Amino acid sequence: MRDFKKLIKLRCVFCHSNDFALPWEGYVPPPGSFVVCANCGKENDITSMLITVKAAGISIAKDHAKELVKDFTNKLKKTFKNSKFITFK
Ligand SMILES: [Zn+2]
Repeated sequence: MRDFKKLIKLRCVFCHSNDFALPWEGYVPPPGSFVVCANCGKENDITSMLITVKAAGISIAKDHAKELVKDFTNKLKKTFKNSKFITFK
């Protein structure tokens, strides 16, 4: 899920920058908190930003799920490649 989190980027509502001054790398701010924009220094409300990315997030999640299924199928194929009992079309 690490890569997945990277895909949904929050945007500063004031200057549309993707950079935020986070306490540590990979920090995920809890809903209702504020993060400071690293570009303009203004505080962004996490809840309203999450609402903004929600639509994008849903389509990303769908694509991500598809990728996971594909990956899993490939792994299965590899695992059972030499099996007489399980074949893939
Ligand atoms: Zn900003």
